[in-house]
Amino acid sequence: MSTLYVVDHDRGEIADPVLEGLTAARALDAGVAAVTVGAAADGLAGALAEYGAAAVHQIHHDELRDYAPAAWGDAIAQLVESTGATAVLSVGSERGNEVMAHLGAALDLPVVANCIEIDPGDIWEMTRVRWGGSLHERARLDAPIKLATFAPHTTEAAPAETPAAGTAVEFVPDLGPEAAITRIVDRVITEEGVTLATAPVVIAGGRGVGSEEGFAPLDELAALLGGAVGCSRVVTNNGWRNHKFQVGQTGTVIAPEVYIGCGISGAIQHWVGMMASKNVIAVNTDPDAPMVTKADYAVIGDLHEVVPAVIEEIKRRRG
Ligand SMILES: Cc1cc2nc3c(=O)[nH]c(=O)nc-3n(C[C@H](O)[C@H](O)[C@H](O)COP(=O)(O)OP(=O)(O)OC[C@H]3O[C@@H](n4cnc5c(N)ncnc54)[C@H](O)[C@@H]3O)c2cc1C
Repeated sequence: MSTLYVVDHDRGEIADPVLEGLTAARALDAGVAAVTVGAAADGLAGALAEYGAAAVHQIHHDELRDYAPAAWGDAIAQLVESTGATAVLSVGSERGNEVMAHLGAALDLPVVANCIEIDPGDIWEMTRVRWGGSLHERARLDAPIKLATFAPHTTEAAPAETPAAGTAVEFVPDLGPEAAITRIVDRVITEEGVTLATAPVVIAGGRGVGSEEGFAPLDELAALLGGAVGCSRVVTNNGWRNHKFQVGQTGTVIAPEVYIGCGISGAIQHWVGMMASKNVIAVNTDPDAPMVTKADYAVIGDLHEVVPAVIEEIKRRRG
């Protein structure tokens, strides 16, 4: 098996799931080689070697200075032909899945997205998540070159016991200007600082919060803990918070160190968006709410009393 792992990056910056995916790829093929597209990512070679990349194929071309999914797919397809790779893997991020879809189209091969388990062989047996995580599907992949992505937050990122060589190998594909049919031409920053997707602590409010104004203590607690506020869909449906705060199947998928669900029942569509949280704390009046029964810790009580009491205690301890 000769495996390439495509690195999702934004101008040389990678998100955590990229190293999780490389860890999972290394478990399948100890000789996995990484692929970075664009010179901005050349500096990643050291980190990729630390996580087990035996080689790092650095794809360089004028058309690849920034993210251009079709051109990335086309360029990686040429690399696959040149290296004779038999498997290409990536992380199931939005970009990872998009680039792999273009690669599949370029090679005329199927892609299995968001895998949580892969049993390789002539035919790969795999389990993948569907419908935002509420369904696990068994899939079989019978193709001359296997293309797949790993669902984010299912493998812990771990450096290799001994760092691999990470030998940088330049590859220059043959691309015309039409290859980059979609490309980034401008970036607008809509949110700065801690964001819901990356916050280490998320304080999420649901119907139990009761109103837009009811979120003030949750905002205060999040600020005290260096975290972000999230919410359930009932909250966005009621117009108490914008959809960008929604956690879940049709919102943002998060994996913070600590998730505190206040007045949230824990419906499956919400749960799949936060189930990768390292520690789940529920604040709820109902001891039988799914969020309470599945949480690591629960406080049975009225959030309008519990959250201000927690804020007061934090302030008292910090003097
Ligand atoms: C296709 C589809 C997609 C969906 N996508 C999402 C999604 O992405 N995200 C999402 O969140 N939902 C989603 N939903 C909606 C989901 O099914 C639930 O309806 C929703 O998550 C419930 O929100 P909630 O927990 O805030 O409200 P409820 O289910 O009404 O729960 C409120 C909870 O608050 C507790 N409570 C009430 N008052 C207090 C108080 N004073 N103090 C403490 N606890 C209190 C109650 O005991 C209860 O457990 C989706 C639904 C569908 C059909």
